[in-house]
Amino acid sequence: MVRHEAMLYEKVQNNQVKCNLCGRRCLIKDGSFGFCRVRKNESGRLYSLNYAEACAAHADPIGKKPLSHFHPGAYVMSIATIGCNFRCQFCDNWNISQEREIIGKYFPPEDVIKAAKEYNCQGVSYTYTEPTIFFEYAYDTAVLAHKEGLFNTFVTNGYMTPEAVRKIAPYLDAATVDFKGAGDPEFYRKFSSVPSVEPIYDSLIEMKKQGIHIEVTNLVVPDIGDSMDQLEELAKWIYENLGSDTPFHLLRFHPDYNLTTIRSTEIKTLEEAYEVSRRAGLNYVYIGNVPGHKYENTYCPECQELLIKRYGFGIIKWNITEDMRCPRCNAKIPIKGRFHREGFAFPSPII
Ligand code: SF4
Repeated sequence: MVRHEAMLYEKVQNNQVKCNLCGRRCLIKDGSFGFCRVRKNESGRLYSLNYAEACAAHADPIGKKPLSHFHPGAYVMSIATIGCNFRCQFCDNWNISQEREIIGKYFPPEDVIKAAKEYNCQGVSYTYTEPTIFFEYAYDTAVLAHKEGLFNTFVTNGYMTPEAVRKIAPYLDAATVDFKGAGDPEFYRKFSSVPSVEPIYDSLIEMKKQGIHIEVTNLVVPDIGDSMDQLEELAKWIYENLGSDTPFHLLRFHPDYNLTTIRSTEIKTLEEAYEVSRRAGLNYVYIGNVPGHKYENTYCPECQELLIKRYGFGIIKWNITEDMRCPRCNAKIPIKGRFHREGFAFPSPII
């Protein structure tokens, strides 16, 4: 295990330290760990214990993140380490996010970049668990990735501090920010052990300020996290603060971890959520985790032309002009980066 001094912490009295990476801002006593269990105070110095200890590495289609308006059809070398700053009772990666022992394979930044090139990836994604808790590893890899002409993307619960966003911003090209239960504070407290949702909104505003491409997801959890009023509030917040062209993905819930008694989200609930979000003013709303659904596709908000036909993580048909316009009405379509490839897309596990 490589002990690596943490970024963004400050010393306070009696050898205590305050970590400023995520919204919890843990005050950590000498010899103790932060809430994420992967940062330890040793004699007044904070160390990241999971640096370069990758517990997962896959060459993934970018649609899996999901990112639908950023380098469509690209592949991204996707890495994670053990640990998380949330305790979601429904986490589908709970076996790595909630693991207490730091297990992984040493996979230093230069090897990540080498693997990205070998697997014909155009970027690197920091994902599966929360990238904020392996920030130092992500940061060093992201710097190298840019040097080698690769882009970087975070898949995050958004609980980063504005300082952390500003630190990674020069190297972070895109972020998928995942909401659950439409941001209901009670849902977060009860099912994710998160005391306050405000830091998520603060980090989104900072990302927007820094020019990072943002896509937002929301996990629609039947009965306990599917309030349409709450969803409307979230969609309106996105519209007002991030803009009407922000892609918004409504994800189907599948029972997992400690919430196995709750059924999968009904398709009609997702479709209702789609209508609510469109009425709130969002131009690009998607339904996720339902392969083959018509709302996986991108439609022109002006003339309804089918622009991108998708199946799961892949692009089946691309119907946008070279200069990213609708071929029917010429409306500008907000997609960053170039289009890479059509076809069904599948992940290739490496670790
Ligand atoms: S990353 Fe968050 S949870 Fe972990 S020590 Fe820092 S403030 Fe606490």
